Amino acid sequence: MGRIVVVGFGPGNEDHMTYRARRAIEESDMIIGYKTYIDLVRDLLDGQEIIRTGMTEEVTRAQAAVRHARSGRTVAVVSSGDAGIYGMAGLIYEVLMEQGWKPGDDPEVEVVPGVPALNAAASLLGAPLMHDFAAISLSDHLTPWDVIARRVEEAARADFVIVLYNPKSGRRTRQIVETHRILLQYRRPDTPVGIVKSAYRSGQRVVRTTLEDLLNHEIGMLTTVIVGNSSTVLYEGLMVTPRGYQRKYTLTGVNERGRLDPMPWSLNAARPSGAGTGSPESRGGPSPAFRIGTAALPAVVEVDHSSGQSFDPARPVLEVAVRPPLPDGRFSAAQWAGIADLVGPEGHIQWSPNHELILRIPGGDPVQVEASLIALGVRVGPTGEVLRIATCDFCEGEKEEAADWARKLAERFDGRPVPHELTVAINGCGMACYGAATEEIGLVFRRGAFEVYLGGKKGGRSPHPGVKVAEGVAPEAIGEVLDAILKDYVEHGAPKERFHKFFKRRGAGGYRWDGPAVETGEPVCGE
Ligand code: SAH
Repeated sequence: MGRIVVVGFGPGNEDHMTYRARRAIEESDMIIGYKTYIDLVRDLLDGQEIIRTGMTEEVTRAQAAVRHARSGRTVAVVSSGDAGIYGMAGLIYEVLMEQGWKPGDDPEVEVVPGVPALNAAASLLGAPLMHDFAAISLSDHLTPWDVIARRVEEAARADFVIVLYNPKSGRRTRQIVETHRILLQYRRPDTPVGIVKSAYRSGQRVVRTTLEDLLNHEIGMLTTVIVGNSSTVLYEGLMVTPRGYQRKYTLTGVNERGRLDPMPWSLNAARPSGAGTGSPESRGGPSPAFRIGTAALPAVVEVDHSSGQSFDPARPVLEVAVRPPLPDGRFSAAQWAGIADLVGPEGHIQWSPNHELILRIPGGDPVQVEASLIALGVRVGPTGEVLRIATCDFCEGEKEEAADWARKLAERFDGRPVPHELTVAINGCGMACYGAATEEIGLVFRRGAFEVYLGGKKGGRSPHPGVKVAEGVAPEAIGEVLDAILKDYVEHGAPKERFHKFFKRRGAGGYRWDGPAVETGEPVCGE
């Protein structure tokens, strides 16, 4: 039997060619390909017969491959990148299908995968393809321009990262201009764009720019263009698309377009204490953190799968946590109605397991929303990897002294960035009916002083309460105790490490875990 091996040899240098591609070329009797491609693999050839054709002669090439293979030879058809992506693989099958060939018939066919230009270009730019992407060839030799234009438009509308193949040639110069015009209808002018010419070949050129400036750079036959989605950033010369749309607005740090958020545990992420808590002191207006955060808004996006709303990158969803006012933990009907008004018909409200309402407001203006919520008299807080103070309702306000201390703690600690989202639960009396002892950090006010519980785990495979590490802590001192615990966690906790794990591993604030060894098995589902 004859054989056809359709080989994708990668971007064009030997290091990025697969082992199988190299072997397949070495094993062949004959090699067929576009002139430039033959030149790129010439070093591997060892006496094979060579058929070099012009670029537009793909059909001729495929027919020749089939003809020679039918005469019993092993023919390698070479394509750059992956032979199955705008390459020769499909054409070979088309020629064979036309002849009534079926798998198992002569000749045998093998397609050898290779690193396509989109991967090669992406790797040189950073990591732009981390989220859903669409590859579109702008060549309208074989595809009507209307179809291409519609694909560009739909991909742009759906916020795909877009890879443009065959963006321009000597004669095809208008396609990229028209594509640029369409993209600008859906993407911000400062959307990061990468232009890679001759990836991993001599003459390699890597340019990072913006959509606005795309046409001011050299683009040609050997160029691949990658257009970011609405959350792609340029960071220190790298083009990076976040893995998901979870970058929520946390009211912390500056998050200008073009800069990654400082990590919540980094020094830069430190926020003014008391900001965003909606405390009486801050009722004068939006907190500084909120004002700083406003700059971040364009980068905040969240796809709302639950409501089936179509996702509009130009209208990011503002997410904010609302807690009932202290000390009695009661929302009034007017507050309830005011919240509903703010959320509007397109947003929604979720009751979280952490005793708070999560409001999601498409296009919400953070400054305005915070000011309105504060005016309503409810407590406002950020979401994300931050600390939240959750409290009981102090027996509907009866435990006034405890409520007062809880309010002070909320003002000082609520919203503080931590390695992993963390609840500090405060109970106003020894009944501890809100289960503070089961939280990662629990404070129980009993007879005028605090008990401190650390390391609890409410869920997962091995739920257990925290251990009581202190009791009789004077209320005036509890802030410092909590501060010391959190400082250790922020300084020494690994990114995304939950507090209960950290505490068991290392202790915190001078306290150590010596509770029962209850951890069992592997954690599941991001525990
Ligand atoms: N089969 C190839 C694509 C061939 S179409 C693959 O899988 O990548 C030809 C187009 O691919 C070029 O116009 C260019 O857009 C892109 N391309 C191929 N090799 C490239 C390289 N080394 N650097 C940048 N772009 C490349």
